[in-house]
Amino acid sequence: MLRRQHGPPARTSVSYYPWKVRFMLIRDILSAGKTAVSFEFFPPKTPAGWDRLFRSISELTPLKPAYVSVTYGAGGSTRDRTHDLVTRLHRETDLEVVAHLTCVGHSRDEMHAILDRYAEGGVHNILALRGDDPTDGKLPPGDFPFAADLVDFIRSNHPQMGVGVAGFPEGHPSSSNRLDEIAKLKDKVDAGADYIVTQLFFDNRDYYDYVDRCRLAGIEAPLIAGIMPISSRKNMARMAELAPRTRFPASLIRTVKRADSDKRVEMAGTHWATEQVRDLLDNGVPGIHLYTLNNSASTLRIGESLGLDGFDALL
Ligand SMILES: Cc1cc2nc3c(=O)[nH]c(=O)nc-3n(C[C@H](O)[C@H](O)[C@H](O)COP(=O)(O)OP(=O)(O)OC[C@H]3O[C@@H](n4cnc5c(N)ncnc54)[C@H](O)[C@@H]3O)c2cc1C
Repeated sequence: MLRRQHGPPARTSVSYYPWKVRFMLIRDILSAGKTAVSFEFFPPKTPAGWDRLFRSISELTPLKPAYVSVTYGAGGSTRDRTHDLVTRLHRETDLEVVAHLTCVGHSRDEMHAILDRYAEGGVHNILALRGDDPTDGKLPPGDFPFAADLVDFIRSNHPQMGVGVAGFPEGHPSSSNRLDEIAKLKDKVDAGADYIVTQLFFDNRDYYDYVDRCRLAGIEAPLIAGIMPISSRKNMARMAELAPRTRFPASLIRTVKRADSDKRVEMAGTHWATEQVRDLLDNGVPGIHLYTLNNSASTLRIGESLGLDGFDALL
């Protein structure tokens, strides 16, 4: 499925698959009415990172995810690397790819250039995000204050594209009004978003309640549940920093405290995530997005523990 090539993608003549003209929009995958399981990757900085990532991808592709997505550094800090990884996955594998795209600090001209390049390369699935100002400096104001503005821009300029947006079951860190936040989420859906991918959470009740609140607000788009297995104590601390509203249930903290080595924290964290996925499957959720952090181990173990050869069996 995947031809190995070490280091960052070459920009010169690589003989790719014949032009990939067929693609599926995520909304069409979701409309099959089963649970679509997807994986998230980030574009590495170093050649060793690219090697590790492509090893993980080779190990994960047999699990047949419904799609994979690639993150984008807010303000364009990974602009080329994200584009390279997205197009390489699109051309060299059978995987359906979603490109994350943040709008903070970008002008309309920049956005035209980024989206035109994806459209020309046959990439038609975008996760439209606002992004955050980088901690090391302010970005120029840009033409898109919020993700809803980017959704609107994509719908107007690339109506053939599929668009997803982010949702926060436990509240967005900068939000001071939880009712208004759901109204703002509705703005993104009304602007043309097809589906919502949630921030990570550790208690499925938070997700089910969020879905309920969305439905009460008239949001009918499918909500894909975001799950990130804990792989170490350090990784758990990092999650708390990156997703500051995340609630770590007492039972999870007890579980991690009991583990007497990092290896065992990883096993316990993967078990916790597996139980979340099992419960989400039992409840027939439309999608589960696994934040892999470019590692295959936890995701492979989740598939195995659920008795699945591949996640396509769910489709
Ligand atoms: C699944 C997922 C993937 C992500 N991928 C990336 C990535 O690849 N790169 C990256 O940099 N970040 C990523 N993020 C993080 C995200 O960019 C940040 O959390 C960002 O702060 C919010 O983005 P958003 O798209 O939700 O913004 P928005 O939907 O614009 O919302 C941000 C906040 O502004 C409020 N708001 C929205 N509209 C208005 C308005 N009109 N007036 C006043 N307030 C308003 C909202 O209620 C919310 O509190 C991801 C998050 C998730 C959940």
